[in-house]
Amino acid sequence: NADTALYHAKGQGRNNFQFFTEAMNQQVSERLLMETRLRDALGRDELELYYQPQYDVSSNCLTGCEALLRWNSSQGLVMPDRFIPLAEETGLIIPIGAWVLQQACNQAREWDRIHGKPLSMAVNVSAVQFRPELVDEVKAALSESGFPADQLVLEVTESVLMSDVEGSVSLLHQLRELGVRIALDDFGTGYASLAYLKRFALDKLKIDRTFIMGIPDDEDDVAITSSIIDIARHLRLKTVAEGVETEAHCEFLRRAGCHIAQGYFYARPLPASEFELKLK
Ligand code: C2E
Ligand code: MG
Ligand code: MG
Ligand code: MG
Repeated sequence: NADTALYHAKGQGRNNFQFFTEAMNQQVSERLLMETRLRDALGRDELELYYQPQYDVSSNCLTGCEALLRWNSSQGLVMPDRFIPLAEETGLIIPIGAWVLQQACNQAREWDRIHGKPLSMAVNVSAVQFRPELVDEVKAALSESGFPADQLVLEVTESVLMSDVEGSVSLLHQLRELGVRIALDDFGTGYASLAYLKRFALDKLKIDRTFIMGIPDDEDDVAITSSIIDIARHLRLKTVAEGVETEAHCEFLRRAGCHIAQGYFYARPLPASEFELKLK
């Protein structure tokens, strides 16, 4: 790796410097190659949304899902942690994000008909997308699909909101005026102070997977999770637990009064056709 190479290079002179640049070159060209492929991914129809079901913790009923992006590249399936950062750095997240919004709304509109009961659809929004133009992109996705605004949930993280507090407050209000819901994703891992929970127009808090993981044995995770649920209740926000993997997680969340859960215990993120089987 490049860091080790740099270390050797500093310690051992010229020959190793060559080694270092080769390692660097390889990293740079791999990145460039991936960037070129990602640029073509939309046009080649290589992007696909998977859908992870969300359940009401107390009734065990399916209430909706979260759309999670996958890239079926010529090199195989690529997970979002590997290409979203690159999409953000290159600005490709703008067209990709607009596609995700439209695709998720189209799909949800269709499933809403099949399901009979209103289904919520949660879409992740990147920091780069979180700008005034997002309002028009959301409007377009809603009007072209006919999906009801109050069933669309936009997931943003604390760092997205904290990078420009005033701008975020105003943007969240505009989005809320469209009728869409806002969820604060990975809650507890960022650095938003509790005071901001009041200022930001939010509907849901998503409790990060890292806290759920330690339940029921880790006393700190138990305390943190219960406290988040209590705070949310007092602020009249709904709670969604992510990464629910065991019966014990479920049992704890039910007793603590958490509303919604998603995780491998219920289902993994599924391709559209498999999610549809769950609806029927
Ligand atoms: P996230 O929004 O916090 O999504 C939850 C992640 O946890 C997903 O990973 C999901 O597959 C995974 N997960 C769900 N249940 C469990 C469980 O029980 N155990 C474990 N170990 N993991 C679970 P995924 O699909 O790899 O997505 C990773 C991140 O990539 C997402 O985190 C989100 O930040 C980002 N992402 C995904 N799709 C999009 C997208 O369309 N747009 C943007 N901007 N970001 C996206
Ligand atoms: Mg999310
Ligand atoms: Mg999350
Ligand atoms: Mg998370």
